[in-house]
Amino acid sequence: MKNEYQFIYNRLFEHYGPQGWWPAETRFEMMIGSILVQNTSWRNVEKALLKVKTYLEPEAIENLPLDELAQLIRSSGFFNIKAKRIKAYLEWFKIYDYDVDKIKKLERGSLRKELLAISGIGRETADVMLLYAFEKPIFVVDAYARRIFYRFGLDMPKSYDAFRQQVEAELPKELRLFDEFHALLVEHAKEHCRSTPMCNQCPLVDRCAKRLD
Ligand code: SF4
Repeated sequence: MKNEYQFIYNRLFEHYGPQGWWPAETRFEMMIGSILVQNTSWRNVEKALLKVKTYLEPEAIENLPLDELAQLIRSSGFFNIKAKRIKAYLEWFKIYDYDVDKIKKLERGSLRKELLAISGIGRETADVMLLYAFEKPIFVVDAYARRIFYRFGLDMPKSYDAFRQQVEAELPKELRLFDEFHALLVEHAKEHCRSTPMCNQCPLVDRCAKRLD
């Protein structure tokens, strides 16, 4: 079947409506949130963001000693590692004078390479930043996308980048579509396609293969 990705997107968008992601008050908060959410739930990230809120400016985090930063983000788990990752990210961000507009001028591929070269920034974190901080259309591959597409009946590559490229090849390169698609898949995984799926009234139920093995 041709372009199942567009079909899934359309159905989810019709059902859940615009999500308006990322859930953050500022772009810098979004960047920090994308590092804090590694290997933990958003609930734990929210607690950490609340504690670190008064420091959510690049210069303030830069001046904050590493161990103090680690304590403030404790509830996000792996806090010593994440504090180092935030500091490493800031070192890179400072090269551009903490100016998002300067970074946005970079081409998507070269910016992605720069992000991936920062210690502790993996593909998923880099792509979330590319999408929500630097406004580059890109498909974020996460556990929810893998789960939903597999259950739906799509045979997706195991490799992160091959998965991402396969989806992107079938979709228009529109920032808003990719913005919404990631958020909609997260919402769908929480509302219907949970670990134990709630297929009744799922917006994809009539076309889904419901592969659960
Ligand atoms: S029908 Fe069930 S398995 Fe398929 S997407 Fe919906 S909740 Fe997931």
